Amino acid sequence: MKPAAFHYHAPSTLAEAVAVLARHGGDAKVLAGGQSLVPVMAFRLARPGHLVDINGIDELDYARVEGGRLHIGARTRHAAFHNQVEPGPLGVLLTTVVHNIAHLPIRMRGTFCGSLAHADASSEWCTTAATLDAEITLVSARGQRTVRAADYFKGFLVTDRAEDEIVVEASLALLTAGTKFGFEEFSRRAGDYALAMCLAVLRFDGSKVVEARIGVGGAEPFPRRINEAEAVLVGHALDKAACRRAAEAAAKAVDPMSDVQADPEYRRDLVLAMVRRALEKCLP
Ligand SMILES: Cc1cc2nc3c(=O)[nH]c(=O)nc-3n(C[C@H](O)[C@H](O)[C@H](O)COP(=O)(O)OP(=O)(O)OC[C@H]3O[C@@H](n4cnc5c(N)ncnc54)[C@H](O)[C@@H]3O)c2cc1C
Repeated sequence: MKPAAFHYHAPSTLAEAVAVLARHGGDAKVLAGGQSLVPVMAFRLARPGHLVDINGIDELDYARVEGGRLHIGARTRHAAFHNQVEPGPLGVLLTTVVHNIAHLPIRMRGTFCGSLAHADASSEWCTTAATLDAEITLVSARGQRTVRAADYFKGFLVTDRAEDEIVVEASLALLTAGTKFGFEEFSRRAGDYALAMCLAVLRFDGSKVVEARIGVGGAEPFPRRINEAEAVLVGHALDKAACRRAAEAAAKAVDPMSDVQADPEYRRDLVLAMVRRALEKCLP
């Protein structure tokens, strides 16, 4: 099917885009990479009267380090992370995760911030944002605000973003040298949305884990850190048994979704396996 008719706006500045959204509010949608919005419009599951195309706004195309954080602008494509955008562990982590997102043509158009705006439960970037406590900056004619990932994701495809707000930037704190991470996901075919995924990020002091971040995506309506699993690891050395115990804690803590692809118990088993495997990548 073809999308329903809409008015197309192509602003070249953020101020113009914000003004169009302020005028049309709930009847307007931002067009970023179009990799989620265009299919949804083609199926007529969304019929926005106005599309605000942000692809001409050059000021939103950046991934730069400032003040100990990596700042990612709204026009930054997934493919920007095929190469390391910063030399430390965070740059390596993003390069590892990005290759799990869909297929190359989709990564060439889709954007990091578009993924956060769309908020699919199985989005690798949403899982990364939740695990690393990203800060998400939103701009509208009413002003600018920054929201922590834990407060931003609200439900399946539901976020704290109002209809007239643009996600202009996401930022991630740099990871200190010596931080280890593991990422694992399971999908039925390569490139499909995953049924469950885990990003584990551990900071060590010698052999002891001093900070643990275990983020799970795909299993519940939105990705989140699983504190119960993190608590198992902090203060102890990491070995295979500890990985197993933390994975069991994660599997017990989640409340998995059910859909045509997987029932809750299957997803719970996947969480067990994904968390264990992600943690085992951090073993000495
Ligand atoms: C076959 C296929 C497989 C895919 N597999 C995966 C996968 O495995 N993992 C994954 O994470 N994604 C996957 N995707 C989705 C892809 O990553 C999209 O690029 C991403 O979800 C949305 O980014 P976008 O820039 O394309 O946003 P768009 O499609 O342009 O927009 C998506 C939604 O977000 C809103 N939006 C976008 N940017 C902003 C902004 N800056 N401010 C406010 N609102 C905004 C739009 O209005 C729209 O509602 C897949 C897509 C396809 C077609």
